[in-house]
Amino acid sequence: MIERVYVFPGVIEMNVQARRRLGVNIYLIDGGSEYALIDVGFLDDLTDVLEMIRQMDFRLSDCKMVIASHADADHIQGLARAREILKCKVAAHPKSVKHIETADEIATYARIDAQNIHIPMQPCKVDTLLEEGQKLKIGDKTLEVWSTPGHTEGQLAFRMGNLLFSGDNIFRDGCVGVIDAHHGSNIVDYIKSLKRIMASDAEWLLPSHGPIFRKDNALIQATIERLEGYLHMADFGTCAIDWPLLDNWEDELAKGILPK
Ligand SMILES: [Zn+2]
Repeated sequence: MIERVYVFPGVIEMNVQARRRLGVNIYLIDGGSEYALIDVGFLDDLTDVLEMIRQMDFRLSDCKMVIASHADADHIQGLARAREILKCKVAAHPKSVKHIETADEIATYARIDAQNIHIPMQPCKVDTLLEEGQKLKIGDKTLEVWSTPGHTEGQLAFRMGNLLFSGDNIFRDGCVGVIDAHHGSNIVDYIKSLKRIMASDAEWLLPSHGPIFRKDNALIQATIERLEGYLHMADFGTCAIDWPLLDNWEDELAKGILPK
């Protein structure tokens, strides 16, 4: 047996519990009579994760559901296997369903040929859809479902009292989840999601990567301003909305201005 390490009442995070980096953050929401997991991470780590859950004296059969915070491979590669072993429901945002059920290698960011990255994906049935505003009961805990698109279309966050399980929206250093058109990133939506998080009275952000941190509006504001810049930069390719240099150049061309 191992002693449970609660980061907040009813909340265990597996990296913190293990005191080592396993991969993505995996939150166990302990509702007393039952529990839920937010993400399960890579398949290779699943055995360790489930063993830890057992060692903490949770019954595997008391797992009410496994939630996919979004459909990226590092968060969900172990999902199908977890569903089989835990015999529980898998829940996700409607916009993640197709990617999870078809094990889409591009949309789950599992395959990047140019970098020889290939994470084998297994299709997984999604049993429960999580929509904006829904209240999710896990024993004596209630999670309020937030749809926070931007990193991916199906990115979810969950409000529980003064805590916000904030997904890949923002991390402690102000970095955000990867912006890439292949898995549906949208910078305009991203900024809206960050503004919503900033405006909320959540006191703590529990991200899907790295340390839990106190919500810091100055940090979020700086991040929003950075993303507002991205909207007009060629660096972000098809995720940018325009490229002012080319508009200016058009004027210069029309005026016949030569390089000098
Ligand atoms: Zn992630």
